[in-house]
Amino acid sequence: MIIIVIKGNMGVLTCARKNCGNIMCDNYSHEYGYLCDSCFDELVDSGMYINIEDFMASMPQPDKKRAAIDYFRGIFEKREQY
Ligand SMILES: [Zn+2]
Repeated sequence: MIIIVIKGNMGVLTCARKNCGNIMCDNYSHEYGYLCDSCFDELVDSGMYINIEDFMASMPQPDKKRAAIDYFRGIFEKREQY
């Protein structure tokens, strides 16, 4: 007998992380399900020794890096490349 466990909504590839509603995720784990790019980046930033189950149960954080890039990009403009 084969039991298939479906996590989330497989039709729209919903991010399996708690309270993350992102869909059409490109990152997939047999164990944890789909993960969106935003959560994947946050996971990478957390380092290799994070407990993935704890991470999947944690609330997604605002994208601080993206916000900081936008803020500092307003101060230091990107030089034109020739
Ligand atoms: Zn996510």
